[in-house]
Amino acid sequence: MAKVLCVLYPDPDSGYPPKYARDDIPVITAYANGQTAPTPKGPLGFKPGQLVGSVSGELGLRNYLEKLGHELIVTSDKDGPNSKFEKHLADAEVVISQPFWPAYLTKERIAKAKKLKLALTAGIGSDHVDLDAAARAHITVTEVTGSNSISVAEHVVMMVLSLVRNYLPSHEIAAKGGWNIADCVSRSYDVEGMNFGTIAAGRIGLAVLRRLKPFDLRLHYTDPHRLSPEIEKELGLTFHPDAESLVQAVDIVNLQMPLYPSTEHFFNDRMFSLMKRGSYLINTARGKLVERDAVVRALESGRLAGYAGDVWFPQPAPADHPWRTMPFNGMTPHISGTSLSAQARYAAGTLEILESYFGGTPIRDEYLIVDGGMLAGTGAKSYKLT
Ligand code: NDP
Repeated sequence: MAKVLCVLYPDPDSGYPPKYARDDIPVITAYANGQTAPTPKGPLGFKPGQLVGSVSGELGLRNYLEKLGHELIVTSDKDGPNSKFEKHLADAEVVISQPFWPAYLTKERIAKAKKLKLALTAGIGSDHVDLDAAARAHITVTEVTGSNSISVAEHVVMMVLSLVRNYLPSHEIAAKGGWNIADCVSRSYDVEGMNFGTIAAGRIGLAVLRRLKPFDLRLHYTDPHRLSPEIEKELGLTFHPDAESLVQAVDIVNLQMPLYPSTEHFFNDRMFSLMKRGSYLINTARGKLVERDAVVRALESGRLAGYAGDVWFPQPAPADHPWRTMPFNGMTPHISGTSLSAQARYAAGTLEILESYFGGTPIRDEYLIVDGGMLAGTGAKSYKLT
């Protein structure tokens, strides 16, 4: 019997289950790169479209696990030595966590987790796990690659438009009973004709480029691996050999690379100094890619005209985190990859990975980050160990 320790974000303040706005969600069976959406043997322990990412939703896993005789502990209490997470970690064989409410698996915690064999990210991005320590301890690290890439890409498009067109402040003026059009439009522009660049053109970065193409922006990217000439031609892309070159050429920058030790604080005062005055920066990748106070300085000086994103460090962000109140920000809590549509896919992918693990069959290569003491599958392409 295995102990499965699952850390999920708290239920809605308004109670669980919520009142749903819609009755169903579209069925997505494959992604743009041809990868199939999760295919667990099932049955799924939930109806797609239900809130399964919070504690009471349990990712729909309870019946499946308990039928096999395993123990499922679900908690949102994840930080500090007296947390429920640390209490159960010592004898957990499987830890499931989401990037939105990450149970940080530091090397100290991994040292205490003597029975841990599988760290499963219900979503994408395993930087909350110390991958070096996991590899040394022969813990398999997996994530549900592709499950929420489009969810995030849509969020990026929304933030590009909302920052450049000054949507959020204009909405606030309307909601408060105001009608000063000049106040709304004195920071509002069209995106048409602007230069947009993504730093990393992986699953999400490329999906963003494809979605922005019809807006007649001029599109740029940088990535360690160049996209095919066909894709570059189809989207009219300008390739840059590095981020420094890209940020000098564009009006709007999207950050979409993974976080690993050498990309921490990649975006700092020096990088901001290279940008055009009045640039915009979108970050749905990871908060720690950007130096926290450098963003505030760039907004206050006017180097940046706006910053939006949903990723912070730590998460949840403290109430006094400066990104909550800095000027011209469009920040949200970490939500882009956990729409109800995304949850249906990453919960199904979590079940698929557990079925493989407990059934002794191989986990899909694209879901692997660390396996057999080294980076594997998607991990070998996207991450670096120190
Ligand atoms: P992919 O692995 O598909 O793409 C990552 C890309 O980053 C790859 O093309 C990789 O290059 C490139 N890359 C790696 N290092 C660098 C670098 N130093 N400079 C520039 N590019 C680099 O991942 P996804 O697109 O699916 O996800 C990207 C990130 O987005 C995740 O790691 C995660 O942190 C974040 N994310 C956030 C979510 C949210 O809810 N906000 C949800 C999902 C993901 P190559 O492989 O060509 O070498």
